[in-house]
Amino acid sequence: MTGSRSQPLMRAVNNDVRRAVHADDFDRIPFFCECSDESCYQPLWLTLDEYDRLIEGDTFGLAPGHTRPRRSRRAVDAVAETVGVAA
Ligand SMILES: [Zn+2]
Repeated sequence: MTGSRSQPLMRAVNNDVRRAVHADDFDRIPFFCECSDESCYQPLWLTLDEYDRLIEGDTFGLAPGHTRPRRSRRAVDAVAETVGVAA
């Protein structure tokens, strides 16, 4: 165990949210904070454009003052693909 439950899972959940939501439905969508704190479930209110920019850059969605995980975003994304939250 690496002790990192949250980032790949949160990324998988966030990607699921992203796929499920249409921009017309909401201005801002509650994604999950992707920080290094395993007990953090803080919502992160982003527009779809803002989330897409997060995905395109190698960065994380973080609540103010939260610490980014040590592993890279692409590493998290790779694991998130295997978590398979998507139905
Ligand atoms: Zn957090």
